[in-house]
Amino acid sequence: MAEQGLMDKLVSLSKRRGFVFQSSEIYGGLGSVWDYGPLGVELKRAVKERWWQAMVHARDDIEGLDAAILMHPKVWEASGHVSGFTDPLVDCKQCKNRFRADDPAIKGTPGTPDAQCPVCGTKGSLTEPRLFNLMFKTFMGPVEESAAVVYLRPETAQGIYVNYLNVLQASRQKVPFGIAQIGKAFRNEITPGNFIFRTREFEQMEMQFFVKPGTDQEWFERWRDWRMAWYHDLGLTPAKLRWHEHTPKELAHYARAAQDIEYEFPFGWNEIEGVHNRTDFDLKAHQEYSGKKLEYFDQAANERYIPYIIETSAGADRVALTVMVNAYREEEVKGEKRVVLGLHPALAPIKAAVFPLVNKDGMPELAERVYRDLQRVMPAFYDASGAVGRRYRRMDEAGTPYCITIDGQTTDDQTVTIRDRDTMEQERVALDRVVGWVREKV
Ligand code: ATP
Repeated sequence: MAEQGLMDKLVSLSKRRGFVFQSSEIYGGLGSVWDYGPLGVELKRAVKERWWQAMVHARDDIEGLDAAILMHPKVWEASGHVSGFTDPLVDCKQCKNRFRADDPAIKGTPGTPDAQCPVCGTKGSLTEPRLFNLMFKTFMGPVEESAAVVYLRPETAQGIYVNYLNVLQASRQKVPFGIAQIGKAFRNEITPGNFIFRTREFEQMEMQFFVKPGTDQEWFERWRDWRMAWYHDLGLTPAKLRWHEHTPKELAHYARAAQDIEYEFPFGWNEIEGVHNRTDFDLKAHQEYSGKKLEYFDQAANERYIPYIIETSAGADRVALTVMVNAYREEEVKGEKRVVLGLHPALAPIKAAVFPLVNKDGMPELAERVYRDLQRVMPAFYDASGAVGRRYRRMDEAGTPYCITIDGQTTDDQTVTIRDRDTMEQERVALDRVVGWVREKV
């Protein structure tokens, strides 16, 4: 399969089956903003639930948080986003396209007569680079004046830092401990694209782990291993995952170490999560800007210090895209093309579908009973329309791991067939065991 072809196929499958739609499509869409349809919302929720389970519920040393998107504007001064979260950009006066100043497609130096626009080819039409802040600005209260400017958060991390003492005191945790959060973030990205890989509104799954200075590299290593293991558990192909260590040039000024988990997308290797040793930069900055002491008091050792922070930062949308890319496959079955989304059963939007083979002889009644029983414990789907082969294909595309068919034999011996999405093999299972059987598998 041609690699870009795969992305196009995924975009069209997403629309066809209701995973992802373009935002405001009837108005021509809004640049790099996407909506999740009935199957997509289930998939993304499953990704987030698995993350929350692993990071919060399964651990004694991490607490959850849901901080607001709007924060005090000084937060973004302290974090460096007001002054530093910028990209130098150039505009073409001829075709009105905008580029990053370091776009390798630009020939010559932007702002000089010899520079050439990579799109329209005009010489001398590129402006000098100008800094462009990636934060979305809005106004709070009824007056639009600069005093009332607030930002849509470009990352969830700052909500954690400014709440760290609140959480510490309320939960009676001790360092080392962590705070996890899932929430929306907004970046006015210059070069968004690749479907939901880089969007202007997205969701982050971030965890900030507070440790004693001196133990930070040890914790960094641990988190590195745990986070990679999480992606393996998600069913991603290990050969398509790798680490990228930030070189001294790439490393943010406050970070002591940073490594990205990368996945091999059809458009190349790209980051899906960053694991960073952020030192005491963030808490020190907030202490300075807020004038509030953010030290931790270690009672046992009778010492005070500002904890170091190990951050794990992933994008829920990006991980959802990754699992879809990883799961998509086309096969030929008896001369016909079969499209399968081989999702890990725990991520599948629909866990089981129930079909009456035909709409008579008591089959629909029995099928509906099975469906109702399943629906009580998991997302299930009932489909009575069309040839059964077509119904299987629809479920293959949706990533549904099991299809249960009520046929002529069911009324005789109280058994049904359960078809496995991946092997396409069918097994006969007693009617009263169906729910338990599927539950065990998913
Ligand atoms: P990139 O270099 O890809 O823009 P980044 O280094 O700016 O990413 P971080 O600021 O470390 O990313 O954000 C952590 C995670 O948040 C990323 O690994 C990614 O999964 C997600 N993320 C960041 N920006 C976006 C975006 N514009 N759209 C979707 N997800 C994003």
